[in-house]
Amino acid sequence: MRHVSRYVSTRGDAPALSFEQAMLTGLARDGGLYVPESVPVMPHEQIAALAGLSYEEAAYRIMRPFVGDSFGDDEFRAIIDRAYAGFGHSARAPLTQIGPNHFLLELFHGPTLAFKDFAMQLIGQLFQVALERSGQRVTIVGATSGDTGSAAIEAFRGLSNVDVFILFPRGRVSEVQRRQMTTPVESNVHALALEGDFDDCQARLKDMFNDFEFRDAVGLAGVNSINWARVLAQVVYYFTSAVSLGAPHRPVSFTVPTGNFGDIFAGYIARAMGLPIEKLVIATNQNDILHRALSTGAYTTTGVAPSISPSMDIQVSSNFERVLFDAYGRDGRAVAQLMDELKTEGGFTISQGALETLRATFESGRCSEDETYATIRTEHDRNGETICPHTAVGVNVAGGFLSEVPMVTLSTAHPAKFPDAVEKATGQRPPLPDRMADLFDRPERMTEVPNDLAALEALIRERTGR
Ligand SMILES: *Cc1c(COP(=O)(O)O)cnc(C)c1O
Repeated sequence: MRHVSRYVSTRGDAPALSFEQAMLTGLARDGGLYVPESVPVMPHEQIAALAGLSYEEAAYRIMRPFVGDSFGDDEFRAIIDRAYAGFGHSARAPLTQIGPNHFLLELFHGPTLAFKDFAMQLIGQLFQVALERSGQRVTIVGATSGDTGSAAIEAFRGLSNVDVFILFPRGRVSEVQRRQMTTPVESNVHALALEGDFDDCQARLKDMFNDFEFRDAVGLAGVNSINWARVLAQVVYYFTSAVSLGAPHRPVSFTVPTGNFGDIFAGYIARAMGLPIEKLVIATNQNDILHRALSTGAYTTTGVAPSISPSMDIQVSSNFERVLFDAYGRDGRAVAQLMDELKTEGGFTISQGALETLRATFESGRCSEDETYATIRTEHDRNGETICPHTAVGVNVAGGFLSEVPMVTLSTAHPAKFPDAVEKATGQRPPLPDRMADLFDRPERMTEVPNDLAALEALIRERTGR
């Protein structure tokens, strides 16, 4: 496979960077997101050769061409091995079957019980190696609707060259999610409970990145799903699961419970690399901007309605910008203009040509709160499978797209992360895995913060002494 040497911004007005630079930076200086200058295609026989490999070996072969010379071969192999060593399942991302031609890809065996661990554990190891080499120190600030924050804290706690600050919407994350963020004892971990919703957290994070003076002073680094390295880590399990089901000799479809469009964008990259993915189905909860956008062409924000699948409670889907960049023929200026309209007018209309391009790859569906509960109950009663509410959104929407092509629905979190909703649906409270059974006994530590940029920046400067 040809290697990617440079990453470019979706808004066309920031310098091209290496993999390492794009990873350490997160958001581009023109407000855009980094994408590979071109996506390397994996030849048919190299995809076929992934069959039977360990997850780590497959991950190495799939990701290696994207890393360029930022990391050496052996170094990168060792990073991958360390990243997944703490998972509670030796297959890392096992498949289970829930119906004729319908499979669940279990992505919740990492240390914080959600798929975000796949990317975050890798990024933690990548940062550690890169920063030790350069002697640099960075301040990681992340915004979370619940799972990103706990995964980031778990990945960066105790690392010597990193301070990690996580903004989460106060009162809007589950107790397990909150405790995973507030119970780590390491002094480089700072959980910030913001007065507002997830979009406020994400907006303040973007503001910090756009304040170049602050950004440079504290050495700001982003690990939100906009970080390219995270997307890359998630490409791997599309390959491993599809190959288990017969790819590249036969096609596979995926349904992805979607919020910020990071996980499903990884599927889009896998498809661009040559994995025969027939359909990528976007599954949204009642916060359905992506389903409306695909159906009508109007990408319009409406405010967030809190749901039982809180990690998908967003109104602006950050990574959608990456797929728009491609759908608009990689015209950064056109993307910048759409994003301007989004900011000033609360929405934009996708051009007919771009919409047709998107519809060639993506299908979409929406799942209401009642349907989410009903799906959790049905899976429990019919298959003995206890699924989390996000996964239930996926399973429900996938139901409308089953065919002779195998369907893989991404199971994005462990049910014990969302015990109230699961108990309400099934009558049984899902237990935490043994390795984290004492979570509710550990003392919590967090700081309440206002939805105010200046106050946040002052706090971060004081805590980091920069
Ligand atoms: C983050 C998350 C999602 C949504 O993923 P995106 O990459 O933001 O689309 C879905 N389910 C769970 C459990 C999550 O943590």
